Amino acid sequence: EKVIEFKNVSKTYPDGTQGLKHVNLSIEKGEFVVIVGLSGAGKSTLLRSINRLNEITEGEIVIKGNSITKAKGKQLLRMRRDIGMIFQNFNLVKRSSVLKNVLSGRVGYHSTLRTILGLWPKPDVALALSALDRVNIKEKAYSRADELSGGQQQRVSIARALAQEATIILADEPVASLDPVTTVQVLDDLQHVNQELGITTVVNLHSVDLAKKYATRIIGIRAGEVVFDGPVDEAVDKT
Ligand code: ADP
Ligand code: ADP
Repeated sequence: EKVIEFKNVSKTYPDGTQGLKHVNLSIEKGEFVVIVGLSGAGKSTLLRSINRLNEITEGEIVIKGNSITKAKGKQLLRMRRDIGMIFQNFNLVKRSSVLKNVLSGRVGYHSTLRTILGLWPKPDVALALSALDRVNIKEKAYSRADELSGGQQQRVSIARALAQEATIILADEPVASLDPVTTVQVLDDLQHVNQELGITTVVNLHSVDLAKKYATRIIGIRAGEVVFDGPVDEAVDKT
């Protein structure tokens, strides 16, 4: 089952920089794809174009058979709800509790008023707690987000994507600000949810060694072009 398809995708930034050049890709359900490449190669541009945090300038991106490039309004919101995003800097509300941060993944499922008032239905709270449990951090549910270590905060952001009921997770340099031990814990958690829940996962990493350890498939990019795409055992430092 094809989950993410790039059809001749290019991105030219307003200043003329070409972020992506004629990228064609097809990612299947349950894959753990790692995108590798040097800084400035286009990893972020590629990842962020999947959920349209970044608008492409040519071609089309298709998610589960529907064009997200052409999607508008409610359809675009529905498609985005299916895609959890994990950032280098966690993007948590620092002064809020861990549980509230995870519940924010449920925002799109309820009326705005209800979410502003924080009137979360019990099943949502249960879902958020079980998401925290899955990444082994349930005991921190009532701590303030900024009391947690970087690695713990990143696990909270994974739990938020799970509470969102995303079937696709995009992680843009998720371990770039973490130490080596914590890096492994966070990537282990991503691998765990990929394998247990079948969540299609696309991760940007600088490190080819880490890519080889976790990926089922490695995509190498250089200057906005795919220069390698294949199984891990064939991956060499072509980027
Ligand atoms: P990374 O290498 O980790 O992807 P960058 O330092 O390239 O991060 O980018 C950080 C931010 O600056 C991003 O929001 C990116 O869109 C923006 N940016 C990067 N390069 C340029 C550029 N040449 N002109 C304008 N904005 C840029
Ligand atoms: P990576 O994630 O691999 O570090 P990026 O996708 O951030 O690479 O950047 C790819 C290229 O696009 C780089 O040359 C970068 O400077 C450029 N770029 C990124 N964001 C912007 C932006 N907002 N405006 C102009 N150029 C940008």
